[in-house]
Amino acid sequence: MTADDDYFALLDRAKEQLPEVMENHERFVIPEADVIQEGKTTYIRNFIDIAETLRREPQNILQFMLRELGTPGIIEGRRAVLKAKVGTPQINDKIRVYADTFVICSECGRPDTKLVKDDRTLILECEACGAHRPVNVRKGSRSDNVNQLREGDVIEITISDVGKKGDGIGKMMDYLIIVPGTVKGATVHAKITKISAKTAFAAVTTEPATR
Ligand SMILES: [Zn+2]
Repeated sequence: MTADDDYFALLDRAKEQLPEVMENHERFVIPEADVIQEGKTTYIRNFIDIAETLRREPQNILQFMLRELGTPGIIEGRRAVLKAKVGTPQINDKIRVYADTFVICSECGRPDTKLVKDDRTLILECEACGAHRPVNVRKGSRSDNVNQLREGDVIEITISDVGKKGDGIGKMMDYLIIVPGTVKGATVHAKITKISAKTAFAAVTTEPATR
């Protein structure tokens, strides 16, 4: 073997080892839902793939999401079927909350964790760095925000009623949404302009829905 051969052999070995090293530092990416809506049904087409990436029982993830979204649903083949119209951003937000709560290690950010029961507390144990933390199912903050509209949100809404002044009215997440210039039965994109308690005013827009 010449010195060059040695060098190349060394280089090859270094290359072989490279992917492993990179994988260890790669940031875990929470899978995005592949969502389609048909009427009042929402399908998450890659639900089982998401569960496999998160390495959690599909049923556990589904039950969590159904509870958070307040909708019934089932697993059918590799997809989840929600019996309600749910937007893609809302679904992805729930998957993120689930992953943050039940999967991702808060010390090292890796998903290589398992859940263990210690007395009555659920503990998230990290196989990558050895950290432990109790699972805190967050009530409020982030997950409540999902059910709150904000000014500037663009929603897709079906006008189910007409108010005294002739404005179209729809309902979404406990809000009464007033959309001037719309007729009963119409489904429109509307941008929230003003919110007062559980009543929101919105204007028809061509912008894509943000929620
Ligand atoms: Zn860790």
